[in-house]
Amino acid sequence: MPPTTRFAPSPTGKLHLGHAASAIRAHDFARSQSGRFLLRIEDIDPGRSRPEHVATILADLAWLGLSWDGPVLHQSTRLPVYAAALDQLRAAKLLYPCTCTRAEIAAEIAASASAPHGPAAIYPGTCRRRAPDPTRVAAWRLDMAAATARAGPLDWHDATAGPVRATPEQHGDVVLARRDAPASYHLAVTLDDAQQGVTDIVRGVDLFEATHVHRLLQALLRLPVPRYHHHPLMLGPDGRRLAKRDGAPAIADLRSAGQDGPALAAELHAAIALSAPAATLCPLAPRPAGTISP
Ligand code: GLU
Ligand code: ZN
Repeated sequence: MPPTTRFAPSPTGKLHLGHAASAIRAHDFARSQSGRFLLRIEDIDPGRSRPEHVATILADLAWLGLSWDGPVLHQSTRLPVYAAALDQLRAAKLLYPCTCTRAEIAAEIAASASAPHGPAAIYPGTCRRRAPDPTRVAAWRLDMAAATARAGPLDWHDATAGPVRATPEQHGDVVLARRDAPASYHLAVTLDDAQQGVTDIVRGVDLFEATHVHRLLQALLRLPVPRYHHHPLMLGPDGRRLAKRDGAPAIADLRSAGQDGPALAAELHAAIALSAPAATLCPLAPRPAGTISP
């Protein structure tokens, strides 16, 4: 069966070259096998999503010569589906409400001598062990121990890493419904990839670790398991990950500066095709804003 891939940007800012390269990879993977390439706008973060970025993203992709199949799926239209999945997990006693603030979680982790410290520290499970406080708005967390016990051992196939044993427990009790948003990234992305019939997830290796959680949710919600292709991130000339802070040009800025979209896309296709497994070098050196010549 021909593959279905997707590009799933969050409209929280402008696309840069790394996003464009990722979109081109997903597009080329599908199109080279007569498959489908879909577009999904991940717009359920009320604090960071902006409608004006959606229009810019669509214009950027068209400028790069990418076309997608069918209508664009906006996650903001899928809230009842996310709510139903949360109900299902709640009924299975796999979710609990959490009213902790970030500061409370940090204090709890710091106070616990045995808990791991640093950025990898996971939620200490405070609310799992106490009665819910009905006066505070709650997020909903997955009871990871119960969920992994229910699901049993899980694997996925990764084109880059090979067969991977899922270890979602490393993430602890992840949030599936945020206090300020109806679903977390993990829940929405897993449900949407299944609903859209995505067979091959082509995305940056920065999302590799999240796949452990996605694989678990697929098992709990009885969803099909796609193949994964976690590709290397685009690096700047200094060998570091391309980022806006280093002046990585936004696609929209290149577009309005009069650059040739199909030519840039051709450079990206070539850079991707030549890339070593470890890295993709940016074909355009990042330049500070304002110095881009047409
Ligand atoms: N919306 C996510 C992002 O822009 C990508 C989701 C995914 O590819 O799984 O980082
Ligand atoms: Zn809590």
